[in-house]
Amino acid sequence: MANAIFEALPTTIFTVMSGLAREHGAINLGQGFPDEPGPLAIRERAAMEAVEGDNQYPPMQGRPELREAIAAHYARTQGLEFDWRSEITVTSGATEALAAAFLGLIETGDEVVLFQPTYDSYLPMVRRAGGVPKLVRLAPPDWRFDRAMLEAAFSDRTRLVVLNTPLNPTGTVATGAELALLAEFCLRHDAVVVCDEVWEQVVFAPARHRSPMLSRGMRERTVKIGSAGKMFALTGWKVGFLCAAPKLTASLAKAHQFLCFTTPPNLQAAVAWGLANSDAWFAEMPGSLAASRDRLIGALRAEGFAALSCEGTYFLTVDLAASGVPMDDLSFCHLAVREAGVAAIPVSAFYESDPVSAIIRLCFAKRDETLDEGARRLAKARDVAVRRARADSVRA
Ligand code: PMP
Ligand code: GLN
Repeated sequence: MANAIFEALPTTIFTVMSGLAREHGAINLGQGFPDEPGPLAIRERAAMEAVEGDNQYPPMQGRPELREAIAAHYARTQGLEFDWRSEITVTSGATEALAAAFLGLIETGDEVVLFQPTYDSYLPMVRRAGGVPKLVRLAPPDWRFDRAMLEAAFSDRTRLVVLNTPLNPTGTVATGAELALLAEFCLRHDAVVVCDEVWEQVVFAPARHRSPMLSRGMRERTVKIGSAGKMFALTGWKVGFLCAAPKLTASLAKAHQFLCFTTPPNLQAAVAWGLANSDAWFAEMPGSLAASRDRLIGALRAEGFAALSCEGTYFLTVDLAASGVPMDDLSFCHLAVREAGVAAIPVSAFYESDPVSAIIRLCFAKRDETLDEGARRLAKARDVAVRRARADSVRA
């Protein structure tokens, strides 16, 4: 009765863990959203626009002032020049932008190279668009890819590559060497990169975000995806951007016109205003999140947990095996939310095959007290796990 891809799909781990957190009254360090409500001036702008502005259908590709503001923002912050008329499409979140990219660019049977850990929507949507996934497996502690891994994944049928940098869930940023390698393979195989850059603004010094679009030969073969939700810590807003050369944009916009067609006009106007008036926010926000990251790392280390390095995103990862947790990540996350009142995300959920299963992801975009208490509760969860493992071994 239903499409096999969706019928077989579980509910996403983010929804499952947030549901369990609510049910058990747990601290939620799982799904990635901040404690704080986001910049007041931008929210006020959205409210004002809803009351006094135009609430009928905006232009299909997005309000001109927003598309101009996106072009100006990327010119200022990343040295990328876009023609706002022919190269920018506003979508309802990066989630819609990704779907539009897959539907608009993939032909049935095309091979699509993806990197595990993969964000939850990529694989089902690539398959639904007719793509055949070819997976590259990244592994801790560095989560890097090399030439041999790309040689094994690319073929004559490769049409698309899906890259996410900064990478959710690992918090790593693609290196110059990785981007150069990827560009070499894309040029050799005539492939397009769909780059999910939603975390581009959440990068901690000295790390720096660099779009693959800046690599030689890649300007015309990269689809750059952004999200105002992440730029302004307004994750519920779902205002995304697709930036690509005119030929690609023509197809992306046609896919968008039958997915959402448009995005709420007041939110678009508020984001346009935000992009033009937020130098102070963009200067301050990463530093304040880096302080939260360091706070959580400190609290975790004090409890004997091994945190991996984190260069960007709202997330850091913890190595359970190196932290004395005698359990896989999924079992530990279920135990932690039910018995210790803290929710986390198992990184194995981002793998389809050969999962990395001793790493959990924690969201640190929270108040200091929440982070401190979260670390204490994780230590409590580990105590329960250790006691249970001992009892099991005595019984055996
Ligand atoms: N891609 C990645 C890597 C994400 O982490 C997220 C959400 N956190 C999205 C896409 C979805 O973005 P949006 O909420 O704008 O749809
Ligand atoms: N991107 C968010 C995260 O990684 C979740 C978004 C969602 O629930 N779809 O936590």
